[in-house]
Order: sequence, then structure tokens, then C-alpha cells
Amino acid sequence: MKKRILLLAGGQSGEHEVSLMSARSVLNALPRDQFDVTPVVISKQGRWLPPTETQRALESGEAPTGGDLVLHRAASAEGYDAVFPLLHGPMGEDGTVQGLLTLAGIPFVGSGVLGSAVSMDKIMTKQVLASAGIPQVAWALAVRREWQAQPDTVRERAAALGYPLFVKPANLGSSVGISKVARAEDLDGALNLAFSLDRRVILEAMTAHKPREVEVGILGNDAPIASPVGELRFDADFYDYETKYTEGRASMHIPAPLPPEVAEQIRTLALRAFRALDCAGLARVDFFYVEETGELLLNEVNTMPGFTTTSMYPKLFEAAGLNYSALVTRLVELALEDR
Ligand code: ATP
Ligand code: MG
Ligand code: MG
Ligand code: MG
Repeated sequence: MKKRILLLAGGQSGEHEVSLMSARSVLNALPRDQFDVTPVVISKQGRWLPPTETQRALESGEAPTGGDLVLHRAASAEGYDAVFPLLHGPMGEDGTVQGLLTLAGIPFVGSGVLGSAVSMDKIMTKQVLASAGIPQVAWALAVRREWQAQPDTVRERAAALGYPLFVKPANLGSSVGISKVARAEDLDGALNLAFSLDRRVILEAMTAHKPREVEVGILGNDAPIASPVGELRFDADFYDYETKYTEGRASMHIPAPLPPEVAEQIRTLALRAFRALDCAGLARVDFFYVEETGELLLNEVNTMPGFTTTSMYPKLFEAAGLNYSALVTRLVELALEDR
């Protein structure tokens, strides 16, 4: 019998549009002889759209308004065998939707509440990975109240890391709200931007030189496998939103031209991080490789990485011999597996 799949896309985060792009690809790729797929788009206001509005949103690439209250829809999600929450960022990739689906008793693709929540928050990720002995840049935490009440303590913390540094909302993706701060004068503006998007902000020392950016895909539950390593190259100061999503601004190199022992180290560290964070199903683990010093630093773990047919994660597994359609099928199988 065909498996009934609910594909969730859109969502409330700054990555709403990115999620809809990913969802269109997955929708086209899930084999129809095996799966009966129902897409449901979640509007930017968090409401779950009925079928016709969902269709319209998928075609137009956005869903600013409309839809039902979430709980009403989740209750009717009971008729599905599995859910594919193809949502990026807060209220989707951060354990909230995963909690709802866990409560509803429906299997779903990807990490559970714990792995999703910890991996979404860059500060929690750093803390867990530090305790697992995984190399990372120096960093510091700041919370909104503190920035409002004692801005100088936050400024001192930044100065201790040295410039240039990166200021990031702790819970976001697609580089939304991220600034590279070259001088102390630009710090306040970067912090105000990051705090407009999140209560928690991470300050990160920049790598000693402009790093090479290398990424690896992980697939599996308790016996995960690592893909070949890929590299992103782009002509910009850092990999910002515009560079990520403007056609032709970045190029993907798979496999990344790296010394074999460096590639192997990346795969080993990525698998260790996946386990330390209690991830499941899939993750894309991103590293900085500082060629000048030979340093390898883990940047972040994305539990629901970009998923269009040209995105890095599917391309990495395609290079490993698993085409896009086989990959999404495998992800649904992993969701249905006993853990
Ligand atoms: P994604 O879309 O992959 O989820 P994100 O929004 O979570 O990305 P990061 O990967 O943390 O953001 O940072 C975005 C980009 O900023 C990186 O790809 C890199 O180009 C640059 N960058 C971030 N932190 C540093 C750092 N500490 N040193 C050097 N470059 C950095
Ligand atoms: Mg990220
Ligand atoms: Mg992300
Ligand atoms: Mg990233």
C-alpha cells in the first residue's frame, strides 16, 4: 500500500521562501507509485493553509496570509504515515514542529525535539560540540536584556574576541541577520540587527584567514553515513543571503579538492557531531578549513538543510550514488524506522 506523506513547507521564519523552493523539488521527486503526498504550506503567520491556498502558495513562492490555526490541522494530520517537515529556521527546524508531531504520534523525517532544538541554536551547538572535543572558533554569548541594560559588557566581550568578528542571531539560517563586523564602530548596528531577530546572539571570532567552506552530508539514524565532502566558492566577503540565493554567485565543488586525510577528518568530525547532538535522519555539517594553518573548525550543523535539486545536501549524496528521488525515499524510510 502507498504511504501517505504530509509535506510541510513555508513556515514563520526568515527562510520561508527557501523552504518553498525546497518543497517544490521534494514534491516532484517522491515516487508516486510508493507515496501519496499532500503538501501543506504554513503561512508566515504560522497558519496551515488548506489545499487550494497551498497550491497557490507553492506556485507563487510565498504565503503571506491565510490558513487555519495549527492545532486544528495537526489533529487531522493523524491520517498520515509520516510527515516531512521541510521547514527551515525557527518554528520549523528548531524542535517546535517536531514536538507537535511527537505529541500527535506521527513519525517524521529528520531530528527529534532535542537534536533539532540544540542544533538550531548556535550557542547550544557550540557548547555541546565543545564537550565532545570538536574544534570551533572562539565565541561569546549575549542576550537581549543584557544588550539593553549593560551594553558595555557586551561590547567588552566583543573586543575580547577581536575584529573582524561575526555577529549572528543564535537561531536562524540562510545568513539572515548575520554581520561581519570589521571595526568596533560597526558593532552596535550589527547587534541591533541580530537582536531584532532573536533574543540570543552569538559573537564569533573570525577564522585567522578567510576560510575555505566545506560541507558534508550525514544520512541515517543510529548508524549514520557521511557523504563525500563538498566545497562552496563565491566571490563575496562572506557567504551572505544574496550570495547564497542569487543564481551564478556561488559554485559547488564535489568532491572538494582536499588532501584525503583532511576530507576523512571532516567526515569523522561530522559523524561525531551528529551523534553528540542526537540528530536523526539527515544533517549538513559545515566546516571552515583554514588552508594557511591547516586548521579545521566546525561551523554549524543544519538539521533541515536546503533541499532543492541543486542544493548542496542532495548533490553530496548524488555524488555518493544516491539520486534525489532515492534520497527522499530513504529519508521517509528512516522516519518510519524503529529507533
Ligand atoms: P545556513 O544557511 O548554512 O544555515 P547560517 O545562516 O546558519 O547558514 P553561518 O553558516 O553560521 O550562517 O554563517 C554564514 C556565513 O558567514 C558562513 O558560511 C561564512 O561565509 C561566514 N562566517 C560565519 N561565521 C564565520 C566565522 N566565525 N569565520 C569566518 N567566516 C564566518
Ligand atoms: Mg545554519
Ligand atoms: Mg540552515
Ligand atoms: Mg551556514
